[in-house]
Amino acid sequence: MAKYIFFTGGVASSIGKGVAAAALGAVLEARGLTTTIIKLDPYINVDPGTMNPAQHGEVFVTHDGAETDLDLGHYERFLNRRMSRRNNCTAGQIYERVIRRERSGEFLGETVQVIPHITNEIIAFVEQHDEGHDVVIVEVGGTVGDIESQPFLEAIRQMRLRRGPGATLFAHMTLVPQVASAGELKTKPTQHSVRDLREIGIQPDLLLCRAADEVPASHRRKIALFANLSEERVFGIPDVDMIYRLPLDFAARGIDAAVCAQLGIETAAPDLSAWRRFRDDAGRRAAEVVVGFVGKYPNPNQSYRSLVEALDHAGIHTGRKVVIEHIDTEETADIAARVAACDAILVPGAFGARGVAGKLEAIRAAREQGKPFLGICLGMQLAIVEYAVNQLKLAGANSVEFDAATPHPVIRLEQEQEDGGALGGTMRLGASKCRLAPRSKLHEIYGQDVIAERHRHRYEFNNEFKEGFAASDMKMSAWSDDERYCEAIELSGHPWFIATQFHPEYESNPHSSHPLFKSFIKAAAED
Ligand code: GLN
Repeated sequence: MAKYIFFTGGVASSIGKGVAAAALGAVLEARGLTTTIIKLDPYINVDPGTMNPAQHGEVFVTHDGAETDLDLGHYERFLNRRMSRRNNCTAGQIYERVIRRERSGEFLGETVQVIPHITNEIIAFVEQHDEGHDVVIVEVGGTVGDIESQPFLEAIRQMRLRRGPGATLFAHMTLVPQVASAGELKTKPTQHSVRDLREIGIQPDLLLCRAADEVPASHRRKIALFANLSEERVFGIPDVDMIYRLPLDFAARGIDAAVCAQLGIETAAPDLSAWRRFRDDAGRRAAEVVVGFVGKYPNPNQSYRSLVEALDHAGIHTGRKVVIEHIDTEETADIAARVAACDAILVPGAFGARGVAGKLEAIRAAREQGKPFLGICLGMQLAIVEYAVNQLKLAGANSVEFDAATPHPVIRLEQEQEDGGALGGTMRLGASKCRLAPRSKLHEIYGQDVIAERHRHRYEFNNEFKEGFAASDMKMSAWSDDERYCEAIELSGHPWFIATQFHPEYESNPHSSHPLFKSFIKAAAED
């Protein structure tokens, strides 16, 4: 049976709990332990697919087609292993399952309650991972004290009771803020957060204290005393300039050693050579490349996290520092000039009409200026619309997402999507195979005939326009295995103009990067 590390958070959200859980997982993997990570999200949405990325961050899509929390992206990138729908679960899913079972008569005669019915369902979800793993890290979303988190915290408390301290470990991550006026680090919020945990029966075994700088020993000692812990179990986690330094940092601090000591795990020291190599490569990056990012949310780090990572990985593997410049197409007056000032242009996926007119302008400028251009999902759909209107002279051509009555619906809904109507989990989701056209640039980049990339969209290229495009410079360079869907396009006669219906960013990882992003950044560097 697996050993469990329960990861909770306190004081504030967005302090990097997911990244820390992933980094710890990476060090355990480097010790030769088969590790997985699951995220328990206490909100009521069944999945984050319908949530606003500006609030909740990117929706990460797993290979098997689940729309999940962005932390699963960190888990994949740090563990270099695919996550699945079994790695993320929300309160909405748990309640949905329990209510379905109640309706089918499974609990006949019983009163269905949070304890034990909801907590048992949570435990059953977690325990699916018992087989096949040495260590399972369970990250509980939100912060201690949230009403929504309570059933999840109760479930992990029960797991400790059943399995004991040799098989389970509670790691708690808090923020130790600096009060500017006093110039002092404050430990009180951490003390209170630990008190809240202990009130519900959880004594943390390990404290990870996030702070801007090192947390001095005197402060750690104080925290340890109030938290009823020995000093060696309280770690300061200062900010880093690059998250992929964390596995090295955690190991240097002895966090993995403390975990293994409690869980009775004996291994050799972790082999962190891959992480060291990555750090050194990152340090060697010479010149910058500026990628104009034509998205609608101003904070790409959260809202387009996997894309930012994929660009960064590609930069590190091609010796370039990638600078992302947000081009807000609603605010920018002279889009063509902004495009001209960048080394390359990227139009990411999106839903809804906001900013679309400006994105079309940016695409046109990239096409006409010969700027390296990468379009993803909506980015590909708009590249097709722009070309149809301005080159094929199909006046009013559009995606039916933006103009239901367009005379030339080059992007349309498939029949099954038209018949649906519900918005949760009903898109084309997850990985599917596609064939790359021989002699296409895409084929040359991937060096493969068949690839599998992940999707998340409702609309598709309308095959009725296939002939018209075949005679033009815009080539359809990838088709789904059943030849039903156009999966990518490229422009001949342009230095680098490629757009994909799928999302390659979900498959990029720090150690090998992704061929498409590497090629894109190389082209940008030559511009
Ligand atoms: N809105 C488009 C669709 O649903 C594109 C989605 C996306 O870019 N992820 O097909």
